[in-house]
Amino acid sequence: MSMILPGSTIGIIGGGQLARMMILEGRKMGYHFVIVDPAQDCASHDIANDQIVASWSSLNAALQLAKVCDVITVDTEHVAWQSIQAIEDQVPAYPSSIVLKNVQDRLSQRDFLQKLDIAQTPYVNVESIDELRNAIDQVGLPCVLKTRTSGYDGKGQAVIKDKDDIHVAWDKIGRVPAIVEGFVDFQDEVSVLVARTRVNSQVRIATYPLAKNIHRKHILHKTVVPAGYPENIEKNCFQFAHKIVDAFDYIGIMAIEMFVTKQGEVLVNEIAPRTHNSGHFTYGGCVTSQFEQQIRAITGQSLGATTLIEPVVMVNLLGDLWKEDINFQTLMQTPGVTLHLYDKHPAKPGRKMGHFLVQGQDIEALSAKADDLYNQLT
Ligand code: AMP
Repeated sequence: MSMILPGSTIGIIGGGQLARMMILEGRKMGYHFVIVDPAQDCASHDIANDQIVASWSSLNAALQLAKVCDVITVDTEHVAWQSIQAIEDQVPAYPSSIVLKNVQDRLSQRDFLQKLDIAQTPYVNVESIDELRNAIDQVGLPCVLKTRTSGYDGKGQAVIKDKDDIHVAWDKIGRVPAIVEGFVDFQDEVSVLVARTRVNSQVRIATYPLAKNIHRKHILHKTVVPAGYPENIEKNCFQFAHKIVDAFDYIGIMAIEMFVTKQGEVLVNEIAPRTHNSGHFTYGGCVTSQFEQQIRAITGQSLGATTLIEPVVMVNLLGDLWKEDINFQTLMQTPGVTLHLYDKHPAKPGRKMGHFLVQGQDIEALSAKADDLYNQLT
């Protein structure tokens, strides 16, 4: 890949908080940004140099973007791979249409992982309620029904505990093509953030420390780093991550979510071909943030150090907290705490509005401090 020099323009499809933080990091390196987002007031609208107001999957918008940009990336994987395919001979796009095509559909994502011999929970494709019934005989109960496309943060999912739940679950996901997978009785959810690029045709890979993630109502609530796992489990997680990015000949940041079972087995749950919420700890917590790293990777620069500066806890701030009298004073006055807000309006339940980092030495104490600060906001 050729180098994209400062002064060049980077296109981002999606103008949410991930794009916003990429732009904040990229502008300091001298890049210009054009975003595509249907919302005129999206989180990046006032810091991007220009915006094409259109849906993420609009072919026209992609064609327009290709004319004015030197490289293109995304802040969401829900971009039609066909739009990227239509422009990737004119302008480099990371992730490529092939990556998006494989990742957008949960079935092809799981098939891809299976071909690589990567451990995951058993899964079966289902297209009707009869197929669902048969699939349950194969994966067992409890199990999780997930739509093949457009799912995120637990949307398009239903847990099936016994056979009486089948109809409700099938209705809940909208009776669309889905996969049913074995329910994992996990010890923890973890994620690996890995960056891969080519510098003078040599592959470079940089991996961030393993992150432990705590979810509430299927949405990430808290990330704790270091995750505190023994070296053999960490090694297992990193090996899976490296195998995946190499198999795609991937360029950019990828987040790979995994389960660690109570027996210490690592199972890959999901791949996100972009910067990721569970990597927000890097923005202030590591020498190079995931956002700077993404810009480095897609412009053909060497990758920055992924070293953790000190133990860190990240807590998400969802719109549910936004009451009239929300008060950030304690957060702002507590040493070792950094507040990030995305300037999103309006605040809605479940909407990601910001996050804060708590940094220090003792991870147990930091985690308790983060909980305490969070509880003071509720
Ligand atoms: P996903 O959209 O696949 O990332 O799922 C969202 C959340 O649902 C995950 O972070 C887990 O907490 C939970 N989940 C998803 N799949 C499973 C599974 N097979 N077994 C247990 N929990 C799951």
